[in-house]
Amino acid sequence: RRSRSGPTLNFKAVLLGEGCVGKTSLVLRYMEDKFNPQHLSTLQASFVTKKVTLPDERRAQLNIWDTAGQERFHALGPIYYRGSDGALLVYDITDQDSFQKVKSWVRELKQMRGTEISLIIVGNKTDLEEQRAIGYEDARQYAQTVGAQYLEASAKENEGVAEIFELLTQLMLERL
Ligand code: GDP
Ligand code: MG
Repeated sequence: RRSRSGPTLNFKAVLLGEGCVGKTSLVLRYMEDKFNPQHLSTLQASFVTKKVTLPDERRAQLNIWDTAGQERFHALGPIYYRGSDGALLVYDITDQDSFQKVKSWVRELKQMRGTEISLIIVGNKTDLEEQRAIGYEDARQYAQTVGAQYLEASAKENEGVAEIFELLTQLMLERL
């Protein structure tokens, strides 16, 4: 049944990236405005859902799949991102290897899903600026060459976090 404002659109989004880059922390910050200095338990629920209202009043329900830590065993396959409308590819700006991992995810997603998935690359942990290993401009240009958006955030300091999920929602709405 349609509500007065029309049906709420449902989108599936997945989080991808190396272990410890802050994927779960970004979700926890956005959902509950909390931060945990410990690596978060793999027993944490890996599926969360949130209604997002954009500044221009457009609305959608975001169904976000976080990993349960399988990335540490290189055990995340196509089943995880099948049917997803968007992906957040997260790395840690102080960790060069985690940026390389994002690039390998981009290659895999392009190959498997082509342009039917919206991609946002997220450089997390901007509060650790003095240890930065990947320049903002380098990451932004890389994202541009692969047709992805680029954002930076700090789950710890709550900087740029809501913007990630709002941009993702906007990209998925515009793709319809
Ligand atoms: P995941 O394995 O990608 O889900 O990473 P987690 O969310 O479990 O975070 C891994 C570690 O990084 C934890 O110790 C977090 O507290 C820490 N962390 C996450 N986000 C940030 C951030 O923005 N800044 C800092 N300094 N640490 C963070
Ligand atoms: Mg996690």
